[in-house]
Amino acid sequence: MPLSAADSASTFPSLEKALKHFFGYDEFRYRQRTVIEQALKGRDSLVVMPTGGGKSLCYQLPALLKVGVTIVVSPLIALMQDQVQALQDNGIAATFLNSSLSQSELRSREARLLTGDIKLLYVAPERLLNASFWPLLQRLQQTVGISAFAIDEAHCVSEWGHDFRPEYRQLYQLKQQLPQVPIMALTATATERVRTDIVQQLRLSDPQIYVSGFNRQNLYYEVRPKPKQAYAQLLALVRQQAGAGIIYCLSRKRVDEVAFRLRQDGIAALPYHAGLSDDERRENQARFIRDDVRIMVATIAFGMGINKPDVRFVIHYDVPRNLESYYQEAGRAGRDGDPAHCAIFFSYADVATVEFLINQKPSEPEQRIARQQLRQIINYAESAVCRRKIQLSYFGESFAGSCGNCDNCLSPPPVEDWTVEAQKFLSCVARCRERFGMNHIIDVLRGSQKKRIVELGHDQLSTHGIGKDRSVDEWRTLCRSLLHQDLLEETTDGYSVLRLNAGSWQVLKQQIPVHIHVPQRAETARKTSDDAQLSPEESLLLGRLRSLRKRLADEQYVPPYVVFSEASLRQMAQQRPVTPAAFAQISGVGKRKLEQYGDTFTGEIAQFCREHSLDSAADLADSSAAAPAAQSRAVADTHFVTQTLHQQGLSAAEIAVERGLRLGTIINHLTLLLEAGEAVELDRLVSPERQAPIFAAIEKAGPHSLRSIRDELGETFDYNEIRLVRAAWELRHSSEGGS
Ligand code: ADP
Ligand code: ZN
Repeated sequence: MPLSAADSASTFPSLEKALKHFFGYDEFRYRQRTVIEQALKGRDSLVVMPTGGGKSLCYQLPALLKVGVTIVVSPLIALMQDQVQALQDNGIAATFLNSSLSQSELRSREARLLTGDIKLLYVAPERLLNASFWPLLQRLQQTVGISAFAIDEAHCVSEWGHDFRPEYRQLYQLKQQLPQVPIMALTATATERVRTDIVQQLRLSDPQIYVSGFNRQNLYYEVRPKPKQAYAQLLALVRQQAGAGIIYCLSRKRVDEVAFRLRQDGIAALPYHAGLSDDERRENQARFIRDDVRIMVATIAFGMGINKPDVRFVIHYDVPRNLESYYQEAGRAGRDGDPAHCAIFFSYADVATVEFLINQKPSEPEQRIARQQLRQIINYAESAVCRRKIQLSYFGESFAGSCGNCDNCLSPPPVEDWTVEAQKFLSCVARCRERFGMNHIIDVLRGSQKKRIVELGHDQLSTHGIGKDRSVDEWRTLCRSLLHQDLLEETTDGYSVLRLNAGSWQVLKQQIPVHIHVPQRAETARKTSDDAQLSPEESLLLGRLRSLRKRLADEQYVPPYVVFSEASLRQMAQQRPVTPAAFAQISGVGKRKLEQYGDTFTGEIAQFCREHSLDSAADLADSSAAAPAAQSRAVADTHFVTQTLHQQGLSAAEIAVERGLRLGTIINHLTLLLEAGEAVELDRLVSPERQAPIFAAIEKAGPHSLRSIRDELGETFDYNEIRLVRAAWELRHSSEGGS
């Protein structure tokens, strides 16, 4: 018997309880609660939230609390299957109807719908609007009741949106045929124009409109200068990152090349572009979603409709087309709300390539728009102000101050006084009679003897060769900065010509100084993953839990995130729940997940605690909810004390004396630190001559049994040495695994 909204109020005294019960989450995000409350009252609404904001929950939870079935319109079959899968995994009765199903399967699903135990039905718009579907809708409405229509990706109704789909236009019929059924339209597209279109096209009646901010605070943004040998940098960046990532390139050729080189360097990567067959593309995408490969190297053909919440980084190896698509593409990172890294590799060589492509476009207006968009991206890349601020201002949102999570905010480029250089540059522009572009001016400054320079007599100018002390790149930086600061002008009709303006003359007359941001900054080595904040044994346990998740996911043919999110795993690693009650406290563990996975995960955690002689797991679970976290932090602290003493040059035995602990305990600490990749100098603990045979013995006997390793080695080796070397071996081994 389905619950009515009134029933639900008593069964679920608070919506939070329902949230925890069905989805395992402890609290709502942003505006989810308000949207859901209004939906329960049956009002039409338009929900605009950035990708990853948690739109689905806005119609899913009301669907579970109301009488009848909620019908979800979704444009992509793959997405539909993922969503239904995830719901079913939470024990929620959901299903879909689409062209991938056989006739008999379709009929049996329809029959089940009419029994009333399905709460969410996903369909594609073409099917929903097909005349043959109406009888089913009518019967559903009369028997089971239709609680709502949820229209996902609602911007598809608008020609102004970035993904217009004609069949979405017909959705106005829903309101015509079933005016009493409320509609919730959902989208991540922000513009006012599209919003108005959605409301009109779907004939929403007096809708509540919710627009969440577009700020994705968990995303770290950076722009790096792209050197000639950029691949080495890319590789280093990829190696720094944990988890899955997408690398976008401009061309298919580049995609293939980068994917190939990554694989050669031992990183699991696959290509994705329009040149591959449908099957190959599907296969590669599936392998990425299931965490069989860590990295997708792709053209922009990839990503629309991929529902992988735990993408940890998105790298644009080539310059993005424009700011809006950059926001959407980078936004595929960190949909689960965990920290994620977004980087652009920026070079003027790439800009020149894009300019070349733009010039090939047939229509003049198209070219103009594309040039303007390219200009915006260049400004974004060159800017020294907060990246977030620039992106948000593009969407008409203002952002004050510094975000603390972009390269410019975290390490502002140093400002230098370049007044003299600016004067040299500007006077060279004047000497060349304001008829030439940047490259020519730089050639003159640097004393070039190119044929053209000589022909024009520019090698005779007083400014010829006065700028040899600066590199071409430095002069370019200065020139762009002058343009930015409005101290120089550039005509853009046809080819570009530099012209002086009032500001230029003030500089030349020594009336104002010129300061520029020098982009040459050290690589911002920043770990985006929260793994960094875990203690050594927490990250070790996290690794174990990830493997367990992967195994369970593969057994059920679902993507790993369907089993548990990263955030849930991390909480488990920190709190180490070993009883069902403690496990149920973890965010993301609802009733169903507790039944399905509780034993397996708590078993693994208990096993881990035993192996690492951590404080009794049961003790942890018995204490109050806050205590485990506090206790595990204390454990972490003790490791770091040991590490500090080790770094001060004490031997393991000396640390034991110093700390009044057993030598075995200190060795325990050091192995944990080693396995977690923390700085420990193995050579000081076990001499290299002794390490070599131990490594060999581990290769032979395998890492699992200390006894067998010792048997290989003989009695002159003790267990402490073996454990330390084994820890180093494990670390090496796990990083080779690449995950
Ligand atoms: P969108 O459709 O807006 O891009 P999703 O609905 O796919 O976003 O949600 C993104 C992720 O956030 C999903 O993994 C989802 O399970 C998670 N999520 C949604 N609401 C909550 C919440 N209240 N607490 C924790 N996680 C949530
Ligand atoms: Zn910032």
